Amino acid sequence: MLPYGRQSINDADIAAVQEVLSGDWLTTGPYVESFEKQIGELAGVAEPAVSVTSGTAALHVAYAAAEVGPGDEVITTPLTFLATATTAALLGAKIVFADISEDTGNLDPEAAAAEVTASTKVIAGVDYGGHPIDAPALSKVAKDAGAYLLEDAAHSVGGSLDGVPVGSLADITTFSFFPTKNLTTGEGGAVVAKDADVVERARRFKGIGMVREPEQLRTTDEGAWWYEMPELGLNYRLNDLQAALGTSQLTRLAQFKARRQEITDRYNEGLAGIKQLRLPAHRDGAEPVWHLYPLRITDGRRRELFDHLRGQGIGVQVNYIPVYWQPYYADLGYKRGMCPTAEAYYEQEISLPMFPDLTDGDVDRVVELIRSFCGA
Ligand SMILES: *Cc1c(COP(=O)(O)O)cnc(C)c1O
Repeated sequence: MLPYGRQSINDADIAAVQEVLSGDWLTTGPYVESFEKQIGELAGVAEPAVSVTSGTAALHVAYAAAEVGPGDEVITTPLTFLATATTAALLGAKIVFADISEDTGNLDPEAAAAEVTASTKVIAGVDYGGHPIDAPALSKVAKDAGAYLLEDAAHSVGGSLDGVPVGSLADITTFSFFPTKNLTTGEGGAVVAKDADVVERARRFKGIGMVREPEQLRTTDEGAWWYEMPELGLNYRLNDLQAALGTSQLTRLAQFKARRQEITDRYNEGLAGIKQLRLPAHRDGAEPVWHLYPLRITDGRRRELFDHLRGQGIGVQVNYIPVYWQPYYADLGYKRGMCPTAEAYYEQEISLPMFPDLTDGDVDRVVELIRSFCGA
């Protein structure tokens, strides 16, 4: 089966991990520190990134750092992976789903604005497929609401909008380094933020809520072993094995991005002009990193196409089932039909194989299968 996504690991990646194994620090060591610095630089923020164990952990940490709690509302898109909403719900927030823009599949600023209340604490967009959110418009909505703009950039590390890197577009940005994403640490993720206090709270939350610096302690005369826990937290530490892999992967991120663009261009060319197909939108000023190739088929035959391609050994996916369709949300009274544009997008969407080591021959084979399925 040709997968829809997979990691690209080379000898340098393997050597980087081996080096950590024979060193002194398996975790909390120098590789973590340097990886955090490099992710911060890539994101264009002043503070180093806060590295964590997954993209899900990054979202949990980000909402905790935004001080999301019971009584707060988080506005987000239904066209995302579960974790964008779950992690805020776990902190006690009410999740409010707003519809998407029809072209990119990203959170629609006007739909988000319509859901703002006095309790809105965070507006969380997702760079669907790797295409950045409409950050200028969403920032304005968030600012007017007195809320944070959070960008779930699990798909888009290395991207930019109007020359501004993903990581500097929103107040808080989260990344995932899962193997199918644009760079990998096995499992892993990171949070970056513009505000130093947000970064500080994120770092504390992922470190079990502990502080040791003298100026942060309530009791200062107990001894050098003393630490305190002003707030609750968890252990979400990325380790040095992962950080070394991530650092090695970062040296190829530009290559990965370029290859993903080439594959997108090849699909676009091969599938152009077929009337029942809609190809991924690419807005002016956006420099996506194509994590997905989200094709839409508008003739009602998405399921047939999916089964046909799977039957031919092509590992297609559907991204995503509208989050509020999940039993958890249905049981809370969320109704189908709430976000019709996202539901229509879901009904038509099929993600084609997309990863840097995919060959032109693989792309052509997928294109041919789809063309003949469509009678083109
Ligand atoms: C992958 C993903 C996550 C979660 O990341 P993990 O590293 O798998 O925990 C969150 N949001 C989106 C949009 C994702 O695609």
